[in-house]
Amino acid sequence: MLSCKEVSQLVSASVDRDLSFGERVGVGLHLWICNKCRKFVHNMTLIKNEFRQLKAEPENLCDPHIELSAAAGERIRQKLLQCQCAHPRRT
Ligand SMILES: [Zn+2]
Repeated sequence: MLSCKEVSQLVSASVDRDLSFGERVGVGLHLWICNKCRKFVHNMTLIKNEFRQLKAEPENLCDPHIELSAAAGERIRQKLLQCQCAHPRRT
C-alpha cells in the first residue's frame, strides 16, 4: 500500500504526465481508505482543471495569475503534507 506522501507525489506528477496503470491502481486503493488524500486529490483536480482551462484559452497564458495559481497549488500541497506529518501514517 502506498503511503500518503507517495500518493501526494504521484497525484502532483499526474499534472505533468499520465500515471501508469500500476500507479493509478495504487493511488485508487489508497484513496479508498484515506480521506485526507481524497481531499488532496480533490484540490489538485480543481487546480489541474484550472490549468487546462487556461491552456484552452491562449489569451490567458499572459495572465500573471497563472504564476499565482501554481504557487497556490504548491502551498496547498505543502500544508497537506505538514498536516499528515502530525498524524499517524497508514501503511
Ligand atoms: Zn493518504
